[in-house]
Amino acid sequence: MVLTMAELSNISTIKELLLKNGVSLSKSLGQNFLINPSVCPRMAEQCGSEATNDASGVLEIGPGIGVLTKELAKSFKKVVAIELDSRLPKILAQTLAEFSNFKLIQGDVLKLDLKRILAEEFADCSRVFICANLPYYITSPIIMAVLEQRLPVEALTVMVQKEAAERICARVGTRACGAVTLAVHYYAEPKLLFNVSRGSFMPAPNVDSAVIRLDIRKAPPFELKDEKMFFSLIKAGFGQRRKTLLNSLSAGTGMAKQELEKAFAACDIKGSSRAEELSLEQFASLANFLYMGD
Ligand code: SAM
Repeated sequence: MVLTMAELSNISTIKELLLKNGVSLSKSLGQNFLINPSVCPRMAEQCGSEATNDASGVLEIGPGIGVLTKELAKSFKKVVAIELDSRLPKILAQTLAEFSNFKLIQGDVLKLDLKRILAEEFADCSRVFICANLPYYITSPIIMAVLEQRLPVEALTVMVQKEAAERICARVGTRACGAVTLAVHYYAEPKLLFNVSRGSFMPAPNVDSAVIRLDIRKAPPFELKDEKMFFSLIKAGFGQRRKTLLNSLSAGTGMAKQELEKAFAACDIKGSSRAEELSLEQFASLANFLYMGD
């Protein structure tokens, strides 16, 4: 029997499907399945399928029983999904039976070679996107892996905790931002798409969520002499955010205050500044100056 996306969002149908296949939900795999039927069409529509008049592909991570997968399969030329739980492929074979453009890879997304998978699976796609509703504890590692490995995708759309979404999408230079805000802004242009209440999941988590989209930059926003230096300054700067930048940088990097003061002056940064007040470009010029200085 072919189940529609709306049916796959229905609590009784999900319970029956799981029971029939002898599967119980795993807390350790973060299996909070979507039961709000309005979420998946919005995610599928906004994750890049506006581009699907051509040959676009999408990599989904953590398809569960396939509720979002179905929506993606309707609008993308090809959908490849990576699911860790070895009990779910037999359910996905049923729920996605009508789609010949769907392929499942069973494995741990944190251990797989995503670059190779993207190259092999989407060789005939002109544009590739990632879309995922993941367990929260692997969301940050996945976001950073996609960005740092510079995976060849146009955008990454993920469900994250609401607070994490606000932090990632905060405007650089405001109090709401943190080290992650700057790291993400360096690689991508983040956008908070919409909020999702905790009641949209079964079982309901303790926190509300939001869907964010990161549009990956085609080129870095500025030239860095040493990316490592740039990121270590950001990490140190926000490590002790109640201190002034001068103190937190000196404590976090071990650099002498005198050397830092020279760099601050050269980059026109006030000694009393705090990490959250700096722009991405100011961190970049500091990193470039300090790189040249040693
Ligand atoms: N996409 C479905 C939905 O929206 O209802 C399921 C979302 S559920 C929050 C997360 C899914 O990720 C589960 O199916 C879980 O088994 C899977 N998962 C957990 N850890 C994973 C990993 N390391 N690699 C791949 N999939 C994983």
